[in-house]
Amino acid sequence: MNIHEYQAKELLSKYGVGIPAGIAALTVEEAVAAARQLPGPLYVVKAQIHAGGRGKGKFKELAADAKGGVRLAKSIEEVEAFAKEMLGNTLVTIQTGDAGKQVNRLYVTDGVDIEKEYYLSMVVDRATSRVALIVSTEGGMDIEEVAHSTPERITTITVDIATGFQAHHGRAVAFALKLTGELNKQAQKISKQLYEAFVALDCDMLEINPLVETKDGNLLVLDTKMSFDSNALYRHPDVMALRDETEEDPAEVEASKYDLAYIKLDGDIGCMVNGAGLAMATMDIIKLNGMFPANFLDVGGGANKEKVTAAFKIILADPAVKGILVNIFGGIMKCDVIAEGIVAAAKEVNLQVPLVVRLEGTNVQQGKDILAGSGLPIVAANDLGDAAKKIVAEVKNVA
Ligand code: ADP
Ligand code: MG
Repeated sequence: MNIHEYQAKELLSKYGVGIPAGIAALTVEEAVAAARQLPGPLYVVKAQIHAGGRGKGKFKELAADAKGGVRLAKSIEEVEAFAKEMLGNTLVTIQTGDAGKQVNRLYVTDGVDIEKEYYLSMVVDRATSRVALIVSTEGGMDIEEVAHSTPERITTITVDIATGFQAHHGRAVAFALKLTGELNKQAQKISKQLYEAFVALDCDMLEINPLVETKDGNLLVLDTKMSFDSNALYRHPDVMALRDETEEDPAEVEASKYDLAYIKLDGDIGCMVNGAGLAMATMDIIKLNGMFPANFLDVGGGANKEKVTAAFKIILADPAVKGILVNIFGGIMKCDVIAEGIVAAAKEVNLQVPLVVRLEGTNVQQGKDILAGSGLPIVAANDLGDAAKKIVAEVKNVA
């Protein structure tokens, strides 16, 4: 789960991290009121969307040469004008895709006199089972370009979760950022604070870009992206409360209500599978047969009729879906129960696209009999390869 910059900064401030003052705003009036509470004379108006690259982004509704989603304002009047330009409009950045994201919230924050911009992020590194701290002297808006053309300017430091953040990790961060004196000490301190926040909040990613050195010699967090391990969210009701469903794919929000793991993809074939591994294999074999999956969908081990129906509805609500492949292994669940669920769901949603079903496991014959006797145009498949071939052939036939 992702949260907005202003929310992430509120969370981080509890760990002692230096952050410029700022206030979130939902309307132009709130943005003006927010600016009045800040010392000025420089303010920054920042679009709050769950995507980075806002500074270099473009608003669909504004002229091509208009500035993006991070604007430096020199007066309250400018804050008002920028808020008017941004709210309700669609910001397109390198991370939003062509559709862009509508800006519904702003963050009005203190303008900072920047001496230099640095980069610092943390992720869970699966390869080493550690937290990787990634730092660079080349912070700011072009970190992707730095990683691409001058990777030697990026340093990775890993922290063993069992022993935690040690003084030498802090020194390594400060050294990689080439900081000396008081700033070196600040870098050690801030990296420790950020690590503590990362672990305590069960983050899976925390990116500070830029971390800035101010003209008066302080290190401040100027931009924050934070995402959380969804499997640990139950431990953090305060974080869960920060969820902004308007930023998420509506189908994914609907799926989460039924505890279905659903991710929208770009292809034509809707997939309904139980178990994440089987779902991945199903997607692979669809590709092997020359088409692309329209989604990843794991209905889980204990799928019942209600879940299967919900999953069908979610898949069919996607206009890109030209056929559905159901691939279910009846282990804990029995195939006949699953078949009944599929038939009931297909009738309820008035299925219009080809449906291929591959069932395997307990009571598989009863399951196949139920599908065959349903009177619905369901194509039965014997194994995964057969299923993929059949759905691709069916979809191509219709087209
Ligand atoms: P994004 O990464 O989405 O483009 P940032 O918050 O990193 O958004 O802002 C882009 C750039 O705008 C920063 O690299 C920094 O140069 C400038 N900036 C952002 N916030 C401030 C601020 N409070 N004061 C001065 N400059 C800022
Ligand atoms: Mg940034």
